[in-house]
Amino acid sequence: MSKDLVIRDDVVSYREMCDIENVQTLQRGMNYRLNPNYSVVLMSQRSNAPYTDRVHDDGVTVEYEGHDVSRKAHNHNPKFEDQAAFLPTGKLTQNGLFIKAVEDYKKGISKPELVKIYEKVLPGVWSLKGIFDLFDYKQLFDNGRHVYRFILRLSDNQKINIETSTQSIEHTRIIPSKVKQEVWKRDNGECVLCGSQENLHFDHELPFSKGGTSLTSKNVRLLCMKHNLEKSAKIE
Ligand SMILES: [Zn+2]
Repeated sequence: MSKDLVIRDDVVSYREMCDIENVQTLQRGMNYRLNPNYSVVLMSQRSNAPYTDRVHDDGVTVEYEGHDVSRKAHNHNPKFEDQAAFLPTGKLTQNGLFIKAVEDYKKGISKPELVKIYEKVLPGVWSLKGIFDLFDYKQLFDNGRHVYRFILRLSDNQKINIETSTQSIEHTRIIPSKVKQEVWKRDNGECVLCGSQENLHFDHELPFSKGGTSLTSKNVRLLCMKHNLEKSAKIE
């Protein structure tokens, strides 16, 4: 898959995701400035996910939980410890780097940090949720410890490294992870029109701009790139 052609709601394997981001592996959830122009976070809303990430009811805002202290550096469970903005050495953690980006934005020093969010749909099945503006964070007390929550909103800028010439990105709502999971299982990981398992995309059958919804699997299906492009051409 060419990196130019990955757009929101495309399906990628773990390997493709790493190739797109030009890294050998993606081990961490939060990756500040993985690219000179943007950061990358991995998110999972699966029931056994280690963090509590959620999409707000407005359909465009994501609340992303910060990361725990490293397991290796401690002999006890990181889930019992406050999430940290600094390492013992005084260096910023990924939480600290994201916080600094929010503070710089609030001071007017910089634009909101652009963050690409990939979500895990199922093991080995990832999807680009979109490119988001990191504009706020909060610290809250949850289950006896302090955690960070980063607040991101779907950006008007969905074009970093992305060719959009034949794609419309006018539908502005996020397809919930749960819907993607349902669709993937229902459509057996194949294009519903030709059975291809390559270059798949979560497609709104009726586009958002024409009143279609992202919130039910009934209006979302898997299409391969060829059929997705044919459809876009017809609509435009
Ligand atoms: Zn197809």
